Amino acid sequence: MNIILLGPPGAGKGTQAHRLVAERGMVQLSTGDMLRAARTSGTEMGKQVAAVMDRGDLVTDEIVIGLIAEQLDSDAANNGFIFDGFPRTLGQADALGELLESKGQTLHAVVEMKVNDDALVSRITGRYTCGDCGAVYHDETRKPTVEGICDTCGGSEFKRRADDNEESLRTRLMNYYRDTSPLIGYYYAKGQLKRIDGLGEIDEVAARVSNALDA
Ligand code: AMP
Repeated sequence: MNIILLGPPGAGKGTQAHRLVAERGMVQLSTGDMLRAARTSGTEMGKQVAAVMDRGDLVTDEIVIGLIAEQLDSDAANNGFIFDGFPRTLGQADALGELLESKGQTLHAVVEMKVNDDALVSRITGRYTCGDCGAVYHDETRKPTVEGICDTCGGSEFKRRADDNEESLRTRLMNYYRDTSPLIGYYYAKGQLKRIDGLGEIDEVAARVSNALDA
């Protein structure tokens, strides 16, 4: 089963993707993670996208489609791929359809996670992740059980994203509504859209995602 998790920044796509990886053995393909990795390792492309990402703007379709194409070539996913943060434009959506088709694969579902804008701001500005395994935490709503130790892997290094501040969040939201939200209609028209309420406890949302996928 190949699926897209669609929703604004802070909707919980990464968190739910991690759950699906753990519970269903799916493979997560997050273009945001790939771009951050390119920055950390200092590649030419990483340097090229750094300022764009920090502002909260979208990097070019060409770059992200290239990253996804590369991963589809190198990763085997018997239990399917989760596209997280991709596609974000209609051009990317068309390209993904063509890439999957060229591999004899299909897209099974697009799960739209709906969260109101006020909740997004507090989710994003309080969030941090484990530097080792990427598990997601929040200053108020989801602290590690033992302070300073990751519940998932026991790691003790945590990090915050440079673009998780109010100013770039505003730009990211604007870009979401302008460039990405048309994908809701696009996948609805293809009969692939499943909409779920993204507000609530992580377990509750995970159950809604599962129900949507198994329906
Ligand atoms: P994310 O981790 O999905 O929030 O992505 C972080 C940043 O990476 C975004 O604000 C964009 O600058 C860039 N990015 C990630 N995925 C894409 C994409 N599919 N298209 C364009 N830019 C992207």
